[in-house]
Amino acid sequence: MNRVYNWQIGREMDYPYEGKYPDRQFAFVFNINRCIACQSCTMACKSTWTFSKGQEQMWWANVETKPYGGYPQHWDVKILELLERANPGGQTWAGGTSASPRAPYGRFDGKTIFEARGPVLSPDSSRVLGYLPTDQEWNSPNIYEDNPVGEKGVSGQLSKSGEQLPVHKTWFFYLARICNHCSYPACLAACPRKAIYKRPEDGIVLIDQEQCRGYRKCVEACPYKKTMYRGNTRVSEKCVACYPRVEGRDPESDGAPMETRCMAACIGQIRMQGLVKVGADGAWAEDRHHPLYYLVHVAKVALPLYPQLGTEPNGYYIPPRWVPRPYLRQMFGPGVDEAIERYSSPDRELLAVLQLFRKSNRIIYRYELKEGPKIFEGELRGRKVTLYNDTVIAYGRKDEELFRTTVEEPIHVREAKHANSI
Ligand code: SF4
Ligand code: SF4
Repeated sequence: MNRVYNWQIGREMDYPYEGKYPDRQFAFVFNINRCIACQSCTMACKSTWTFSKGQEQMWWANVETKPYGGYPQHWDVKILELLERANPGGQTWAGGTSASPRAPYGRFDGKTIFEARGPVLSPDSSRVLGYLPTDQEWNSPNIYEDNPVGEKGVSGQLSKSGEQLPVHKTWFFYLARICNHCSYPACLAACPRKAIYKRPEDGIVLIDQEQCRGYRKCVEACPYKKTMYRGNTRVSEKCVACYPRVEGRDPESDGAPMETRCMAACIGQIRMQGLVKVGADGAWAEDRHHPLYYLVHVAKVALPLYPQLGTEPNGYYIPPRWVPRPYLRQMFGPGVDEAIERYSSPDRELLAVLQLFRKSNRIIYRYELKEGPKIFEGELRGRKVTLYNDTVIAYGRKDEELFRTTVEEPIHVREAKHANSI
């Protein structure tokens, strides 16, 4: 085993290969607070990549209702239970959050899936702790849709006193998921055929269909269960990050890098995808005005999904404000309280950057802020609030302006001659 540095857990960890890092890394931020579970993202992916025979149960992009839903069912509960069995009582974080980008969430003192493997829990040959879901677990991608946890944690027993922030007594939330194109992919680590590779130019993780022999070691190892086996071709498949679009080869894009289909289709405007600069040790290089760098490392409102698993996922989430904190801390690590606090009372820059979501399908490489006039002063949940109508400008790969937008959304008044017409 080699030792690699994982900044999300604030320490070195075991990994079967040496750390090799791309120049830029495919990454994304999803704002859970805005997702309405319309499944437009799910269907955009399905109709692009997985509409063929043998792919009926394959959903590279999915949206599940937490805490009961999951695709495949119970994927997160199962891997967390396996880790707990491997290291009883030891899966804990230490040190608290810090200003250092090398350990922003403190240090995870437990075992990752690369460190907890072993003959008791995994077959002898396994390089990664994991399990193979049953066919039944893959069968119902949207099981328990909209099912809330009731008052005092009892399902179906709804709170009758009404709900208020900071925490609701009856709650659920939507978790939109794709492959995280991890920096230390478990799928790649587990493949005995070396059929899985991470591209040096953008960190996208792909399965070479010619090399794969369908052993399903990747399906067993991926803790997020984002590689899937296709019975009629007898090889595994996974999210390809719409790489032709990211490369700028979509006919629509005129050579400019475009966001994936699931991002572009998002009705709730919860999604932003980009390519972040990576340093020599795999951590994100400072890029103060890249919107994803800002959300993850400066504002710290977006957090990785289950960072304790150890794959260094490149999917980040703005956590839902109304959900009990222990549940969220388990899912997103120790940065949850700070993230919710900042998102609930956004400063001037954060409010402007949040306007960048889904104004264009082009990948944003940089943003700039132009200050505007004060438009509101008041009080919200006991705090003084001042709003400014700032303009935020997005730039593309060649530093060309992609679009500009303001904090205050424009109001369009329909002309009288069009009243009551569609
Ligand atoms: S989410 Fe799973 S399939 Fe995707 S790169 Fe990570 S380990 Fe591999
Ligand atoms: S398209 Fe956007 S809002 Fe709709 S389910 Fe997907 S992530 Fe949520």
